[in-house]
Parts: sequence; C-alpha cells; structure tokens
Amino acid sequence: MAPSAVPSRIVIENAAIATVDANDTEYASGYVVVADNKIESIGAGQAPAGLENVVRRVDGTGHLVTPGLINTHHHFYQWITRGLATDHNLFNWLVALYPTWARIDEQMARVAAQGSLAMMARGGVTTAMDHHYVYPKGSGDLSGAIIGAASDMGVRFTLARGSMDRSEKDGGLPPDFAVETLEGALAATEETVDKHHDASFGAMTQVAVAPCSPFSVSTELMKQGAELARRLGVRLHTHGSETVEEEKFCHELFGMGPTDYFESTGWLGEDVWMAHCVHMNDSDIAAFARTGTGVAHCPSSNARLAAGIARVPDMLKAGVPVGLGVDGTASNESGELHTELRNALLINRLGAHREAALNARQALRLGTAGGARVLGRAAEIGSLEAGKLADLVLWKIDGIGHSSIADPVTAIVFGAAAPVTLSLVNGKPVVEDGRLLHADEDAIARDARQEAQRLARITAEA
Ligand SMILES: [Zn+2]
Repeated sequence: MAPSAVPSRIVIENAAIATVDANDTEYASGYVVVADNKIESIGAGQAPAGLENVVRRVDGTGHLVTPGLINTHHHFYQWITRGLATDHNLFNWLVALYPTWARIDEQMARVAAQGSLAMMARGGVTTAMDHHYVYPKGSGDLSGAIIGAASDMGVRFTLARGSMDRSEKDGGLPPDFAVETLEGALAATEETVDKHHDASFGAMTQVAVAPCSPFSVSTELMKQGAELARRLGVRLHTHGSETVEEEKFCHELFGMGPTDYFESTGWLGEDVWMAHCVHMNDSDIAAFARTGTGVAHCPSSNARLAAGIARVPDMLKAGVPVGLGVDGTASNESGELHTELRNALLINRLGAHREAALNARQALRLGTAGGARVLGRAAEIGSLEAGKLADLVLWKIDGIGHSSIADPVTAIVFGAAAPVTLSLVNGKPVVEDGRLLHADEDAIARDARQEAQRLARITAEA
C-alpha cells in the first residue's frame, strides 16, 4: 500500500460561504478544498496555489455554499400514501391510514424510499433518516430495501428501526394486525443494528432504536428498547408530545405527561432525539436541556395535522439540541427539507411581537449543525470546517428567485426554494444542475405512482 497516496481534490471558488460553524463564520467570496471525502481547507478569497491532483474546479460565482441539509425525522413508506385523510388531526389520520400502511411490502418500501430520498436529495439534503415502524408479517426485508435505496442514491443515512406492539386490544391506536410482538420487535431491531450499523467516523449508514410512540408501544418495549440501544451503543428515537390527544392519552394511561413518561422509561438523554415535542411546558423543556435530549422540529407536518407550534425559540434558549424534519409525506406531501428552513422561521414567528423569535441564520443552523447534533454526528457533519466530512451544497442565488436579495442566507431562507447546482456527499457529487446523478427521477416517479395504486387496490380488496 502506498504510504502517502495523493488525495483527489475538488476546488470550489468564488462562492459566498456560510460555514455554520460555532461562530457563524461567513465569507462573501471564498473557497472550499475537498480532499477525498473531507474538507481540507476553507476560507476567504482564492484557494491556495499549488494543490496537487485537482480533479475538478468549480466556479461558484452566483452561489452560496452551505453544509448539506440534515433530515432528522421522516417515514419514507408514506411516499405512496400521500394526499389521503387530508383534513384530519393526528389520531384520526393515523386510524384512517393504518389499514393501508399495514399492507406494504418490500417492493413498495423500496420505491417509496427512492421517492422520499430523491425529493430530499434534489433539495440539498445530504444526510437523510427514515423512522420506519411498520413491519407486516411476511413483508420481506423492508429495512434492507430502505438502506439499499439510500446507498444507491449516495446519501448519508440513518435508519431508525421502529416498532409497534400496543394495538387496539391493549388500549393502543394501531389495529392488532399492524403490530409486532415485544420479543419480535427487539430481536429484529438488534439484528438490524448488527447487520447495518457503522459506528466509524464518516459512516454512510447508521441504525437507531426507535419504538414508534407512547400510544402505539408498550411501556416494556420503551424500557427494553432503551436498554438495547445502550447495550449496542446506538441512538434512540421516537415521537413525543405531538398533540393534545397524546398528552391526554399519557395522563389517562400512565398518570403523567409525555416527558415524565419518557423519563420514567429511560428515554431522556444525550443519545435520544424525539420528533415534534410540540406540547412542552417549561419544566419539560428544562428536562430536555438538562439531559441533552434532542428534538426533530417538523413545522409543516405540525401545521398539516393541526398539532400546534413547537416552542423552538425557547428550546434553543434553554440549550436543547434542535434539528429539522420533513416527517412522513402523508403529513407533509411536499417531502422537501429546504422549504422547512423557511417554514420553521415563519411558523415560529406566528403571533404578536414574535418578529425576532427565529432568524434566517438560526433556521439554517436548525437544518444543518442542529441536525448533526441531534443525530450525534456533530464532529463529522453539519458545518463546513477543515477535517469534517465533505457534505455540502451549492445553492444558485443569481437567478430570478434570488438575485435581488443582497444577503445570501436571507435569500435561501426567506426566498423561494433555491436550485441546487451541485451537492457533494462524502466528497462525491450526488446532484448536478438540480438532477440526481445516481437515480432516474422519471423512473422513480412512474414506479411510485404504480406502487401507490397497487397499495390502494390491495387495501380496497382486503
Ligand atoms: Zn413522524
């Protein structure tokens, strides 16, 4: 083996750069040098002279470079059940959709994952996650199909291996046929971690332990799931404090609110992140801050299901790690994350005297460094710094949508969704000129329609 093989370098120059590092360092015109899968150097002006083995030079004129966006909550399979139960709250929406979801198979899971991933990657997502919790008996290797779709597309990925074991007969929300047993769920989750989780720096695939929610999971599965994750050294993910109905459910069944319930089952900690966290009082937020528990803020989904507005500015003030999530596309049909930067900002400003509740740079941070922290990967991704992984996006801001906005970060957050000229994941191009390099978008669109129709047919015939 060659002791010092010369790395392949990509040099990006003449671009505005928002590093989203700890000091919010920005360059009006700067450069990034990528060496293999890492950022080698970054700064103002032109790249250093004399670099060896430069395989590509990118003129970033008219662009803003940011860290790649990081999605912290999603349900890929919902790509083929979009646009249904459109005027429902969470519980009614779930009850309407469970019978359909419980009939997915491996082919559907693969195609839906491709659709979900494609929509995000085109919009600058470089790290995706899927909280998948529907594993019907005999449906095949759903986790393998989802992980395969992410790796084919070239994006960094966390599979949160979900589960449900509290069905209607145990006072839960899902129908009996849609759930796994406690033992079955734990064994399958451990197997998925063993098979797919990579703990090393720069990992392209990680797995988290992710029982679905208090109203679809037994207390025993919550407790044993937390123990399993800690034994295996992986992270924990679930839904929490999403709606007033969930809060009521927790009080009725457990005699306490969701946050206290999570604490009692071992579910607060630096290795935990939760989706939504809308209905949190001051002491809930303090508990998250004290324990380092992370939050996946999903503004569009919360609006779609009338869940409410998460107290993101208060969480940030308290020091709670917060990232952004698309959530499943049955409750956020757009499936995009770059538009959530704007939606997070707007939704958190709703109400009198809230004009400073969240600004453009905080919104960008939620979608990048905040997400990295929530996924436990702040040392690797989420900001543009020498030594970190080369996950970055060139947003085109000299077109009609943005050219008249002087500040580049304001342009991409307040303005229309900016086109992606180039995105790199692990130093490799994934999007060029708005198109995916490793997937056929037209084929995905066609297959998704076909699988959505097949699922609707199977459900109607059942
Ligand atoms: Zn969700």
